[in-house]
Amino acid sequence: MWSFWIGSRALEVSARVERNVAMKTRLARFPVVRAHDQFDFSFQPAHDGEESRELATARFVAHGENILLLGPPGVGKTHLAVSLGVAAIMQGISVVFFTVADLVDLVQQDVKEDRLDRRLHALCTPKLLILDEMGYVPLDQRSAQFLFRLISRRYQKGSIILTSNKSYGEWGDVVSDYVLATAMLDRLLHFSTTINIRGESYRLREKRKAGVFHDLAAMPMKGNPSTPRKTQVGGQNEITSGYDGL
Ligand code: ADP
Ligand code: MG
Repeated sequence: MWSFWIGSRALEVSARVERNVAMKTRLARFPVVRAHDQFDFSFQPAHDGEESRELATARFVAHGENILLLGPPGVGKTHLAVSLGVAAIMQGISVVFFTVADLVDLVQQDVKEDRLDRRLHALCTPKLLILDEMGYVPLDQRSAQFLFRLISRRYQKGSIILTSNKSYGEWGDVVSDYVLATAMLDRLLHFSTTINIRGESYRLREKRKAGVFHDLAAMPMKGNPSTPRKTQVGGQNEITSGYDGL
């Protein structure tokens, strides 16, 4: 009798956990759901996966730390960002995913409807915010200021995972304001881990193998990161890019 009761309680609890994970995954608005173990680390010579597996424990969220995933298109930045988000949800953490282009659209809409402050508040609520594709679209002044306020409000309180194809030195161009870009990076990087993903596009790998494309990875690309190096930033052990810095 007791064992039956305990068994059915365990089933109830696991069904509740599953419902909770499913709900949080829906609320996160991922473009596509990716698991961390679906990432082929052998394909990325510069990235052995050990650090990323530590990040998948989601401990960084408890400390309000940020993760920056940098690299050219197709190397798996979004995949890793989403999979770290999914791993965080498994730990009961609330997550929201936006592309920076989505954010720019929202800001433009919110300005018209006078609800920018409410948007800021809403984006400060989830414990983990994923901002994908910084650098693909230029930010107008209002969007850049909004992004700065968002980063400042979340500083040391709510983690951000940000992906970008741009080096830190190019952020001034992306937000058309070098002072603002430096201030954003100052807060983002203080407690953070930067992972550079190098190499060729995973998307184009098969096509290249079939001889459809030349080796795109061999082409010089503005902002293509060089070898990562370890430094100490804000007391954290960080992998920085070989980028030209802030
Ligand atoms: P990025 O955001 O850097 O442009 P994506 O994360 O969108 O790249 O990756 C492009 C596609 O290739 C996705 O379908 C992703 O799942 C897959 N992909 C990229 N890198 C890897 C990898 N190392 N292992 C498995 N799949 C990968
Ligand atoms: Mg992407």
